[in-house]
Amino acid sequence: MKTRKGFSALTLLVGGGLGVVFGTVMIEQRPQIALAKAAVPAQPAADGKLRIIIFGAHPDDAEYRGAGVAMKWARMGHHVKLVSATNGDIGHWQMAGGPLAQRRKNEVMEVGRRLGVTTEVVDIHDGEIMPTLENRRIITRLIRQWNADIVIANRPNDYHPDHRYTSILVEDSAYMVTVPFFCPDVLPLKKNPVFLYASDEFQRPNPFRADVAVAIDDVIEPTLDALLVMESQIHEGGANGYAGLFPEDPAGRQRRRDEVRRDLAKRYAGYADNYRDALVKFYGDAQARTVRYAQAFEVCEYGRQPTHDELKRMFPF
Ligand SMILES: [Zn+2]
Repeated sequence: MKTRKGFSALTLLVGGGLGVVFGTVMIEQRPQIALAKAAVPAQPAADGKLRIIIFGAHPDDAEYRGAGVAMKWARMGHHVKLVSATNGDIGHWQMAGGPLAQRRKNEVMEVGRRLGVTTEVVDIHDGEIMPTLENRRIITRLIRQWNADIVIANRPNDYHPDHRYTSILVEDSAYMVTVPFFCPDVLPLKKNPVFLYASDEFQRPNPFRADVAVAIDDVIEPTLDALLVMESQIHEGGANGYAGLFPEDPAGRQRRRDEVRRDLAKRYAGYADNYRDALVKFYGDAQARTVRYAQAFEVCEYGRQPTHDELKRMFPF
């Protein structure tokens, strides 16, 4: 663990110098403001715990995909960070811009607080992220600064362009995080992380394959409590909501609260049913049959390729 400690101190020094560099760029390009913030490195604790970073395109995506397992990791003292690659500033049917970005940031910061994880929102406009060199650098730096052992994102085949390009940016960083002279302002990772995809139901070009499944029955209630903080997206329906979906009257509001909680629980119950075979691989037949709520992940063929035993150590539940 000695090397890790040395790594973090150096990263801090390099990161500290970065503010000046980015300060000059900030004036011209708005997303750089977030990059300046992102350039403040985490201080990787040399504590032998896992370091996990979960990417989503919008301030709710990493939360949906990671919440249950993130809470399980966090409860064991592992270090989890949830990142939104855009600021979510058009993700509502009624409001947009700065006030929405601020509202959604507040929502995910509170979700993170409840899960016991770190949260960051990159200040790139919702609906506009592209797989550019500049954005590849942002994602590469975030993975390095977190000193990640595990990186999770959605797969690149997805209905939303921001989801697609966020995934591609993470894939584009999967090797580059180890290359010393790419983004030399942040030290490269000595060990290539394991990259995982969160589950989805897209069929083309190929369906999701569950290599890992995690039972989240023990954390399902606090997980739902945390996720349901995101009222702009869940109760009010986000970009596809409409007036009256989350009514003003207390009875109507409660009805909507019950409905969205049921729907969300059903989503994680669906994963347990869909990925029962992977649950059996991890928990054995008898225990796997009793699991009601789960999350599943596929190993990306970029990044380090873990053995089954290594995967079990990374998901030590
Ligand atoms: Zn999204």
